[in-house]
Amino acid sequence: MQPLVPFVRDSALGPHDALVDALRAAMPDIDLQIHADIPIDRLGEPTVAIVDGPSIEQLSTIANLRLVQSTWAGVEAILPAVPDGVEVARMVDPQLGLTMAEAVLAWTLYLHRDMPRYARQQRQADWVEHVPVRASNRRVGILGLGALGRLAGETLRDQNFDVAGWSRSRKTIDGIACFDDEPGGGGIDALLERSDIVVNLLPDTPATVGLLGTEAFARMPPGASLINFGRGPTVDDDALLAALDGDLETGAHLDHAVLDVFVTEPLPDDHPYWGHPRVTVLPHISGPTSTDTAAVIAAENVRAFLADGTLPIDAIVDRTRGY
Ligand code: NAP
Repeated sequence: MQPLVPFVRDSALGPHDALVDALRAAMPDIDLQIHADIPIDRLGEPTVAIVDGPSIEQLSTIANLRLVQSTWAGVEAILPAVPDGVEVARMVDPQLGLTMAEAVLAWTLYLHRDMPRYARQQRQADWVEHVPVRASNRRVGILGLGALGRLAGETLRDQNFDVAGWSRSRKTIDGIACFDDEPGGGGIDALLERSDIVVNLLPDTPATVGLLGTEAFARMPPGASLINFGRGPTVDDDALLAALDGDLETGAHLDHAVLDVFVTEPLPDDHPYWGHPRVTVLPHISGPTSTDTAAVIAAENVRAFLADGTLPIDAIVDRTRGY
């Protein structure tokens, strides 16, 4: 009999047919069933579940779990629902890396070439030229040099930006100034102080909640900008709004924020970000799961785990670190 693998997804997130079809095509040797369609008496069978997004309630109904394979890179929402001793595998997909690097490049160029400023000028019918800054003089700092941050940094470096990055452990990346939290690594302050554009690609963990707050923004050069493509809780929203409010001559410290992720998603209708002239709101689209490639990777991981209990090392979530 084929092993039964539940597919768990919160129905509020919308249709999942394309991903389920791709997973079934990638794992014909496995009986992939949508969680809601599995009779209760069979929910004790599975050793592996595939989870698409935060779906805590359904996950807790599955007994006998040994592996939860996430189709997302960020797993903070599912960790509280997974009992100790159960492995969690996150999605590490080269295609996701390319999509995210493209988004980081696109929105870095948006800020680099002053598009928010020209949009403001257009609304005033204001014809004013500003001399473009060379990419090699634009300092971009990436928070997080993991699967996504590293490729994003390399992509910006290849476009001649002056790129630095910060991670917990030491990294050496050609053409990128790497800061870290190890002794002598400079820490986050060294990165913030030299970055005209800060790109957040950190996971949401207890150590990153509120990391970008009043003190962090004050360390960034006046007129710097923020791109948050990691997770919403890393940014202190009140501190960011305070840093953006007013114009740069009368006290605002930051110029613009491009935000793709929020503490509450969808962003509530009355949130001040929506109407803020110095904020660009995106609906969590910088790095969506790539259905076909993610299905193949999830299938490979599930197959390897069922065969001999192994997983690719970079997919394994360290429960104590939270990523
Ligand atoms: P990853 O490979 O696990 O990399 C995480 C990076 O952050 C690592 O370099 C890690 O340092 C660093 N880090 C974590 N905690 C830190 C801390 N407290 N201090 C300093 N550095 C820390 O993760 P990834 O695949 O690149 O994904 C990153 C995040 O992007 C995901 O967790 C998710 O939240 C977000 N994401 C967003 C979207 C979107 O559409 N907006 C899509 C996909 C993912 P070490 O290298 O030293 O461990």
